[in-house]
Amino acid sequence: MSRFKMLALAAASALSFPLPVQASPEQTARLRDAALADTLAWDITEGLTTEIGQRKAGSDAEARARDWAVAKLKALGFSNVRIETFDIPYWERGIATAEITAPFPQQLILTALGNSGATPDKGLTAEVIGFDSLDELKAADPAAVKGKIVFVTHRMAPAQDGSPYGPVGNVRRQGPSIASKLGAAAILIRSIGTDHHRVPHTGVQDWSNGAKPIPAAALSNPDADQLERVLKRGKPVSIALTITAKMAGKRQSGNVIAEITGRDPAAGIVLVGGHLDSWDLGTGAIDDGTGVAITTAAAKHILDAGQPLRTIRIVWFGSEEIGSFGGTNYFDRHKAEKHHVAAESDFGADRVWRFETRVTDAAVPAMKPIAAALLPLGIVQGHNGTADGSDLDELAKSGVPIIALSQDGTRYFDLHHTADDTLDKVDPAQLRQNVAAWTAMLSVVANDPTEYGPVTGKTE
Ligand SMILES: [Zn+2]
Repeated sequence: MSRFKMLALAAASALSFPLPVQASPEQTARLRDAALADTLAWDITEGLTTEIGQRKAGSDAEARARDWAVAKLKALGFSNVRIETFDIPYWERGIATAEITAPFPQQLILTALGNSGATPDKGLTAEVIGFDSLDELKAADPAAVKGKIVFVTHRMAPAQDGSPYGPVGNVRRQGPSIASKLGAAAILIRSIGTDHHRVPHTGVQDWSNGAKPIPAAALSNPDADQLERVLKRGKPVSIALTITAKMAGKRQSGNVIAEITGRDPAAGIVLVGGHLDSWDLGTGAIDDGTGVAITTAAAKHILDAGQPLRTIRIVWFGSEEIGSFGGTNYFDRHKAEKHHVAAESDFGADRVWRFETRVTDAAVPAMKPIAAALLPLGIVQGHNGTADGSDLDELAKSGVPIIALSQDGTRYFDLHHTADDTLDKVDPAQLRQNVAAWTAMLSVVANDPTEYGPVTGKTE
């Protein structure tokens, strides 16, 4: 950098000089490399998982987590820190137990799926009918299913990009409604997970197209293996099941928002964040304590470097796990504001390996400085048109550009939505690589006067 340019930049930051000044590649590289020594993301993840723990949507713990977030974001020096509340339908987990009563009596380990119905108080005992896939269940004769406990298995392979979660996850998302409509007494699925531990994976499902709630639960992978073997013996198999889950009215949830006000408010908002709520079995470390921690730590590195051109808005979304209620509420309140770009971290804390975008064709060349800044971290550029984020769906549909920093998901579904989602699973070195990647990306996009959107139509 020339001495003149350095002086100009120093003057610009000292006087909050209003002209758009792009972050130079050298500035971005310096911020990125400094962020590799970040301690804040760990501090936030450790604090949230220790002082709050699980943060189930609508729970008292989620409310305490919002207050915790406000105190933390204020202490870090962000502006306009506030909570935006909304109501959600609240589901209580209760207890879930199951045992094979015939032909080989034994206990099974399982957990209820979100929005599961309950068994009668004393439980229910019924014959099991097994299916090797969701398609097999869809094709079932209702007479064969009526009054029985449906069991649906599958095979889910680990993958760096996590892509099996889409199709395999449909066993959880759709299986319960299909089984209910076929007249099943209850449904058990193989956990949507890639581990081999006796730790079941919960997750949300909705009763769609008027399906009436029935008890719905996931067996741990080894228990699903066991039930498969028992069924293969060819004798009638009965299970006694007790689930006391229930819907329990409306509860309050909310999004926590903080900002770095940009030099040019008309330049629009760069939205980054993750979701504050978690499932209740673990402490929500990788899903998604690290997501709010990584994005907040990156924003803090930008804040400390001087005022960016565009406003950076950090959102810790509430109630993502039960259907992205926080993302929907955010969109309803803020859709009239200009969003320059949005990005969410919600895939654990292992290293970022790819960066994807959803920007206009005209803006694709403007992604080059981001790609160049990410390459030294071992991050490759993926496609334009594919980036998304569960809390960003409505923004994306409205044309807001999206950037995704994809994390390595190879072991994510070993832990996802289980009691094993705890702080010890976070690798501090990989967490810091995430912060460096987000810092580099933010340094470019928050200071780049190029417009990336609106993105209309299908860009894939
Ligand atoms: Zn998540």
